[in-house]
Amino acid sequence: HTYAVSVGFIDMAPAQGVLLCFEDMSEKEQASQMRRDFVANVSHELRTPLTALMGFIETLQGPARRDDTAIDRFLGIMQSEAARMERLVRDLLSLSRVESEERVRAADPVDLGRIIGSVLHTLRPLAKACGCEIVFDPPEGVLVPGNSDQLQQVFTNLIENAIKYGGKGNTITITLDGSAPETSLRVPAVIVWVADQGPGIDPLHIPRLTERFYRVDAHRSREMGGTGLGLAIVKHIINRHRGRLRIESTPGQGSVFTVILPRLTRDA
Ligand code: ADP
Repeated sequence: HTYAVSVGFIDMAPAQGVLLCFEDMSEKEQASQMRRDFVANVSHELRTPLTALMGFIETLQGPARRDDTAIDRFLGIMQSEAARMERLVRDLLSLSRVESEERVRAADPVDLGRIIGSVLHTLRPLAKACGCEIVFDPPEGVLVPGNSDQLQQVFTNLIENAIKYGGKGNTITITLDGSAPETSLRVPAVIVWVADQGPGIDPLHIPRLTERFYRVDAHRSREMGGTGLGLAIVKHIINRHRGRLRIESTPGQGSVFTVILPRLTRDA
């Protein structure tokens, strides 16, 4: 059972105290509470850049109208705020697309080594800007049944996080094992480890990282262009592929994100 706890302060001298009300929440109530929280989060995330945009438009129409330096600077900020809204809308659409699917529809053979290689190619400029070294030695022909765009998104999000949160000069090691003998999936499986040597994550946060909009440090996430939806999307895609995501971290030493996926077998 989940209980909603509301806290009230009683201020009736001489008996002052705290009143705790425990309320049993049914599954239906929980679902509708989650929906309300989600809408509130989305509204908040959209309103922040919108408020900034409105403020700058007003300033450009008024006091900064003829100040070329201010115009240039404000347009730059407006562009990055608009880009933030665009990223949020893009991630919301990705999330709603993967959430609406029970299982991946067209399960094609996907070559994981090739997918990760192409993600690394796309992320090379970001890695370079962060001074990160990425180590990956792809084995050939590791196939899983799935949707290649979605699997590409999984590794983009995980590797981008390792670069963004790992800090300058971090080494990221990606290991792909195409013939894992024993995994929790109980079917022939493939394992991918994405390991960074960054600051790591406090174990307290780990169980909540895949919740929508959950961030360890909201300010840092926004600064890095994060939407707080990346790992929620990762988890949903992996679930749709009947796989598992494991997150382990040692603060001060780094984090390891493990993806386990069913391997393509002849009868798959
Ligand atoms: P965001 O858009 O904020 O990056 P994610 O859902 O991808 O959202 O990640 C949620 C949070 O998990 C991040 O805000 C960050 O605090 C933490 N996180 C994710 N990956 C790592 C990592 N490799 N090292 C440290 N923290 C991480």
